[in-house]
Amino acid sequence: MAEKRLAAFDIGGTTVKLAFLTTEGEIIRKWSIPTDRTDKGSRIVADIARSFYKELKADGLTTADVLAAGVGAPGPADPVLGTISGAVNIGWPNGYPLKQLLEEAIELPVFIENDANCAALGEMWKGAGGGAGDVVCITLGTGVGGGVVSKGMIITGVNGAAGEIGHITVVTENGFPCNCGKRGCLETVASATGIVNLYKQQGKDAPDARTVFEQAAAGDAAAQYAVDRCAFYLGLAVGNIANTLNPAKIVIGGGVSEAGAALMQPLEKYVREFTFPRAMDVLALQKAQLGNDAGVIGAAYLAKVMSVS
Ligand SMILES: [Zn+2]
Repeated sequence: MAEKRLAAFDIGGTTVKLAFLTTEGEIIRKWSIPTDRTDKGSRIVADIARSFYKELKADGLTTADVLAAGVGAPGPADPVLGTISGAVNIGWPNGYPLKQLLEEAIELPVFIENDANCAALGEMWKGAGGGAGDVVCITLGTGVGGGVVSKGMIITGVNGAAGEIGHITVVTENGFPCNCGKRGCLETVASATGIVNLYKQQGKDAPDARTVFEQAAAGDAAAQYAVDRCAFYLGLAVGNIANTLNPAKIVIGGGVSEAGAALMQPLEKYVREFTFPRAMDVLALQKAQLGNDAGVIGAAYLAKVMSVS
């Protein structure tokens, strides 16, 4: 009998990415469908199931050829109840029973996790983590996402809120307000919008983070200050994370990381400044490698390890 496949679904606000992978994490096939957010996202599960069966049949296979499915979804996942909360951009109510609904729809074991955690598992398994079991991923996009992998497993915490690195408080006085209700979160200064926030604080304006980096490269002092402060706050968070977890790798991904050396060089300097020397000895700071595939690769890893344990 041929070796079984893994199925992986990465549910986002505009598209659902789907993939079949080998149990070694190689993508056999990947495709995507639009995320139907109408009627509070109530059609999403049925859409995934229909697309999954169609592609499975196209390969001449049945569910008996699939070991399990792993799913990444945008919100804290309850590891015991199999529910997703806070998926406001899809329309799901808090405590949405994603695991149960998908298991009924595709008749396979389903394992769910927060999407940022799935991306961290993906980078750990097949990307910048290089298989090291202790990896922290920080994604700098519109917001700041995080995932903590320790000994090969995601740290979920008691109710799925572990690894919310974007909400580490780094500015203690007059911090910008955050979507979470707090002020001064890492996300308010190290995301794409955060860098623009820091630039605007200097009395300047820019439409996006890319422009701020361009202005900094062109010698604009306010833009250089904004980039330096972003690296400082990120370095402060990374240093404290490294002191807490002693990981082998901290992987930086997302659109803002495309700034490359302009961000990574000052970041390295601040990480060294804020990290306990013994933790620094083994720490490597790296750019993410898998891009948009990190989510499905991580979801497949989740399906693999959870279905054998
Ligand atoms: Zn926050």
